[in-house]
Amino acid sequence: MIKQVNFHCVGCGACCRGRHVPLTLGEAEAWLRRGHRVSILLEAFAIQEGQGDMARYRHDASRGASVRSGNIDICVIAIFAADITAGCPNLGEGNACQIYQDRPLVCRIYPLEINPFTTFGTDQKDCPPEAWDASQGEEVIQADGQLIPSIKQLVEASRRADQSEALTKVRICEELDLRVTAWKGCGFVIHKPDADDLMAAISRASALQPSSAKPWSVRVHGQRLTDKLRQMQAELYPEDGDHRHLYIPMVAA
Ligand code: SF4
Ligand code: SF4
Repeated sequence: MIKQVNFHCVGCGACCRGRHVPLTLGEAEAWLRRGHRVSILLEAFAIQEGQGDMARYRHDASRGASVRSGNIDICVIAIFAADITAGCPNLGEGNACQIYQDRPLVCRIYPLEINPFTTFGTDQKDCPPEAWDASQGEEVIQADGQLIPSIKQLVEASRRADQSEALTKVRICEELDLRVTAWKGCGFVIHKPDADDLMAAISRASALQPSSAKPWSVRVHGQRLTDKLRQMQAELYPEDGDHRHLYIPMVAA
């Protein structure tokens, strides 16, 4: 059970490198307009009814859109994200964020959690120990385990955007012919579309059809999952495919 957490950002800049920052569509447009690239991370899972952890399933499904892969329907989650693995292009001198007033929601929420199924832990965060010094910091998680209202509002706004933009993001991927996804929990496929093409697709987004028959393929690793998806009759990405994307495995094969 989480008790009260106090936090004080010490401006170390550690959270501004070594990761991907998920963006809403509006934030992705603004990121592109500033001249930076936006990546698209894709993962998918089987559409199911009435089995497993339904609360978690419903949460995941609300962030994705149904597409066809082989003979089955799968739910694809498309995460538009700034790639700041080598450092955020907006990080200025003294680790100051140069777009502080306009920084993405995810940057405003860090180091708190957006995903309701991820347990918060200060040891999971990039912030140094002094950032959690109760005598210096302000309350961010209340004694009852709830986020303070100002952060809760940001988290809710982020979740709302994830849900309301899920279908549009998947349709944008289809517009750009980026129809290879990884399998949730096993890895990510990362596409790096041309910035102009992505900007054009986002600007056409409101005119995109809500449904599409374009087939998707799933890239996986490991014999067990490969066999499972074959049995399910999903379309697997071929080993001799063009690999115009990165595949980041998250678990050993
Ligand atoms: S936008 Fe600002 S706060 Fe967000 S990662 Fe970049 S420098 Fe850090
Ligand atoms: S890692 Fe934590 S302490 Fe360091 S800049 Fe980011 S939020 Fe602030």
